[in-house]
Amino acid sequence: LLSRSGKEYAIEDSAAPIRSGTGEVIGCVVVFRDVTEKRNLLHKVAHQANYDALTDLPNRYLFQDRMVQLFGQARRLEQAVAMIYLDVDHFKKINDTLGHPFGDLVLKEVGRRIRSAVRGSDTVARLGGDEFAIVAPVELSSPDHIAILTRKIQEVMALPFQIEDQELHLSASIGVAIFPEDGPDPTTLIRNADIALYHAKEQGRNNVQFFSPLLNLTVQERTEMETHLHTALGMKEFEVCYQPVVDLDRGTIVGVEALLRWHHPQRGLVGPDRFIPLAEDSGLIIPIGEWVMETACRQALEWQNLGNPSLRLAVNVSALQLTRGDFPGFLNRCLQITGFPSDCLELELTESVLLQKSGKVTEALVRLHAMGVRISVDDFGTGYSSLSYLTRFQVNTLKIDGSFVRGIASHSGNAAVITAILALGKAMSLDVIAEGVETVEQVRFLKNHHCRLLQGFLFSHPVSANKIPEILAKNYRKGEGVLSGLGEDRSDGEVPPI
Ligand code: C2E
Ligand code: CA
Ligand code: CA
Repeated sequence: LLSRSGKEYAIEDSAAPIRSGTGEVIGCVVVFRDVTEKRNLLHKVAHQANYDALTDLPNRYLFQDRMVQLFGQARRLEQAVAMIYLDVDHFKKINDTLGHPFGDLVLKEVGRRIRSAVRGSDTVARLGGDEFAIVAPVELSSPDHIAILTRKIQEVMALPFQIEDQELHLSASIGVAIFPEDGPDPTTLIRNADIALYHAKEQGRNNVQFFSPLLNLTVQERTEMETHLHTALGMKEFEVCYQPVVDLDRGTIVGVEALLRWHHPQRGLVGPDRFIPLAEDSGLIIPIGEWVMETACRQALEWQNLGNPSLRLAVNVSALQLTRGDFPGFLNRCLQITGFPSDCLELELTESVLLQKSGKVTEALVRLHAMGVRISVDDFGTGYSSLSYLTRFQVNTLKIDGSFVRGIASHSGNAAVITAILALGKAMSLDVIAEGVETVEQVRFLKNHHCRLLQGFLFSHPVSANKIPEILAKNYRKGEGVLSGLGEDRSDGEVPPI
């Protein structure tokens, strides 16, 4: 309701009938109440809980909420979400020399400027102190959008600040992490953007740094590992280990996944999570990946010849292997040289590779399919989980990420994700492998939900090649071998030979 002076009022009304002696309605009483005050107070309380009092930007709570919404939307629309973490350089000095009230005015102006630099649909928040954050959806087709955005923010920050009668020149350090690659949930994404920000500051101020798993290494570690990585292949320091994939229905091992290990002369055994990012960064992943493929194909053929003719081999393939050089050409030669049957080879790719719209990736996937090679989506469920590429490319297998399997008991959301993936696999006639199976309870859950392909420490850790024949031999006899430890009754039907 607007008054004549243009002021807005909130009015609540209620009505009651007036009856005559005979009960006939002869009128009514209408009561109007001015609830402007009450409503304003409610708004104010709600606002205070969600917004930062100084800058009037969303606070951490509202920000996390918006992130969750954006992640959901990004999953549906096949977008990425950039999390940009910003910190005003040398802000402490301003506070110390010019006082807190002055510092507050600076922060207010910083908030205004960032707001002006981004799109209306992007969320800008103040997370505390002199830290601001922006979340912005990014189309996968325009990855330089993030660089443009960070440059714009740096530009508005570089303009002189005129506060009271002081002129200040400021800059900001910026860390960027991108959903879903750098973190599947708000907490991880904020943490990783913060790590990137820390490194941006370390490089001197006014810097932008994108998150990479490499940032978890110290500079010294990184240079040292990089130098060694160049010679590791020649020095025969790599080993391919294998982890069995179990078929619960058949009670047999139906495949193995090749997992790379590095026996570092000083550091001992180094896991792939530590050195694969380095190998990707330096391009060394190409020769290393080719070596893994050839070694694993030769090895798996030997096992097939021991009486497991349809044993499948899964090999992890980096995005870089598909986008650089001629991967299908290499693989074709590799299969010829080794004699490994293409229909037993499964390439494990991540969703982000399958979502790339680059012509090169599409062409490679089409050629690989024509060669008869199988395609598997690794870590399914942690990323976009978009369905479009499942039909665009001939995908054969989904691998449920181990984090969902490990969370079966603790969080019903994980169980829901698993059942959804299994239903999807069934509807699209895809194989589904559950990774990271560690307990009998998890097996029971998966079995009850008709997930028959399992992989995890419960059955076997990744082991050296020479241990595999023994594991393969065990599962010929029903009730023995990998499944015997489960205490499950395996008397259901005959176990066919693999
Ligand atoms: P991934 O492909 O998701 O491989 C599964 C990882 O989970 C492996 O770690 C495996 O050892 C571990 N794992 C298996 N079962 C369990 C379990 O029950 N519980 C737990 N907690 N973990 C389990 P790993 O061997 O350290 O490999 C890490 C990642 O490195 C792999 O993740 C893969 O993305 C990458 N990688 C490994 N080998 C290669 C390779 O030859 N080429 C490329 N490009 N990447 C590789
Ligand atoms: Ca894998
Ligand atoms: Ca995986």
